[in-house]
Amino acid sequence: LLYNQVQDLKGAIRVYCRVRPFLPGQQSNGQSTVDYIGEDGNIMIVNPLKQGKDARKVFSFNKVFTTNATQEQIYVDTQPLVRSVLDGYNACIFAYGQTGSGKTYTMSGPDLMTEETWGVNYRALRDLFHISKERADAIKYEVSVQMIEIYNEQVRDLLVSDGSNRRLDIRNNSQLNGLNVPDACLVPVSCTQDVLDLMKIGQKNRAVGATALNERSSRSHSVLTIHVRGRDLVSNSVLKGCLHLVDLAGSERVEKSEAVGERLKEAQHINKSLSALGDVISALAQKSQHIPYRNSKLTQVLQDSLGGHAKTLMFVHINPELNAFGETISTLKFAERVA
Ligand code: ADP
Ligand code: MG
Repeated sequence: LLYNQVQDLKGAIRVYCRVRPFLPGQQSNGQSTVDYIGEDGNIMIVNPLKQGKDARKVFSFNKVFTTNATQEQIYVDTQPLVRSVLDGYNACIFAYGQTGSGKTYTMSGPDLMTEETWGVNYRALRDLFHISKERADAIKYEVSVQMIEIYNEQVRDLLVSDGSNRRLDIRNNSQLNGLNVPDACLVPVSCTQDVLDLMKIGQKNRAVGATALNERSSRSHSVLTIHVRGRDLVSNSVLKGCLHLVDLAGSERVEKSEAVGERLKEAQHINKSLSALGDVISALAQKSQHIPYRNSKLTQVLQDSLGGHAKTLMFVHINPELNAFGETISTLKFAERVA
């Protein structure tokens, strides 16, 4: 079964849409723009304040998760892709959406986490540990992680807290097998507690650059890379796989008139890298001859894991509030272009 699921995913780009629930306090005035979610992967967005053809629009994805979907249910559909990394595949999982739409919730979980609300990152690692134990008689696996941030087109290591803020170089070399930021710390992990501890360090380092007004995490891309190396105990052959889990910068458009200085620069870098990502994924989907990886740091970092035999999954996140209607439509248009 697993084999078939993997074959299904081969070379394919999947897009899942997740609608976050209204948050406590929003409930009372909660008028939702999500009118309909179909089992077939359709979602209908409405704006009760508009009339005519701009008032409603239907989008179509591989799957749409309702506001009731649990973290467990989200992970179940992601599992085959995660597990394929143990067979030597490379893969990327992205969280896309405007700030506040639930990207970090999907990838990591809420601030106060219980095992039930663990996000994709922890579940993926737990699963990899679990399967590698099951196969321990035949294959000896080693799992290591890197955690970097891309902010204003600069790459920083989130697992180093020497305060040096050193910019890291990207190297594209197939020998590196997905580890295209070779100078970032690569930390071996063997249980979920190791991972939880590391994530804490990463989160802390991510917050260092944040000012009170500008929450940095919404302006930078964070990339957790899980590297797997498996040695066959009989033949001694080695396989390598790489999984990138990417919490993207907020996709909201910034009014030109509102943004100045640093904020304008950030917005331009985010626009550039998200559209570069969209261009790469849609070029791959169209089996284009030229894939424009060179247009952003993000696509350069992920180059070996986007296209070829690698698998890509994008979670697009929707904030159902009426005042998010415009951003919701542009998020879904972006997602439809890459689907
Ligand atoms: P983003 O990373 O896109 O800016 P967050 O993941 O921080 O958004 O989510 C914004 C808020 O909504 C947080 O308080 C988060 O806990 C909450 N939230 C997001 N998705 C869900 C969900 N599926 N269920 C419950 N709460 C959610
Ligand atoms: Mg976030």
